[in-house]
Amino acid sequence: MQIKIDDKTFEPYLLKSKIEARVAAIGQQIKIDYKDKQPVFLGVLSGSFFFMADLLKQTALDVEISFVKLASYEGVRSSGKMELQLSIHTDLKNRDVIIVEDIVDTGHTLKCLLDLIYQEKPASVRVCSLLYKPAACQVQFDELHYIGFEIPNEFVLGYGLDYNDKGRNLRDIYRLASI
Ligand code: 5GP
Repeated sequence: MQIKIDDKTFEPYLLKSKIEARVAAIGQQIKIDYKDKQPVFLGVLSGSFFFMADLLKQTALDVEISFVKLASYEGVRSSGKMELQLSIHTDLKNRDVIIVEDIVDTGHTLKCLLDLIYQEKPASVRVCSLLYKPAACQVQFDELHYIGFEIPNEFVLGYGLDYNDKGRNLRDIYRLASI
């Protein structure tokens, strides 16, 4: 069923059951990959909070959790400007860091965040992003290790992702309707 948020109409795209299955699979993989380690999960606010919570339920590792906020987006178009709104409080030195992102679009946000994180001298850094838009991404990331879904260059919302700060609480992911 289509939904309307402000001036835009959205249609269902990735349903809850499909997201849940994929998040569970990624969580299990991380559990195996970090079996003998104590990684720090670094969630990028605000979009990653659903994903982060569901992922952490799967991993059952001895983990630490922290959040950062970087803003680069207004409405449905990337502004290109970057602002650090919350700093990293956890000590990342010699730690295995897993950055949890909602979506990698142009890649500018992630590039900026990685630059900041490497200054903290972590032992390793991997990125886990629920969504990835390969056609939009302008940066090559060796760290982008776990990807939920590769999607076309379309605007999506739901499951943590917003449009004008609305729609984050939707359980399914929607995309702009093609009508
Ligand atoms: P990037 O810097 O990779 O272009 O953009 C990253 C940020 O832009 C994401 O963390 C997210 O907040 C926002 N963003 C990019 N694409 C979308 C999209 O399709 N839907 C929503 N809701 N936000 C997006």
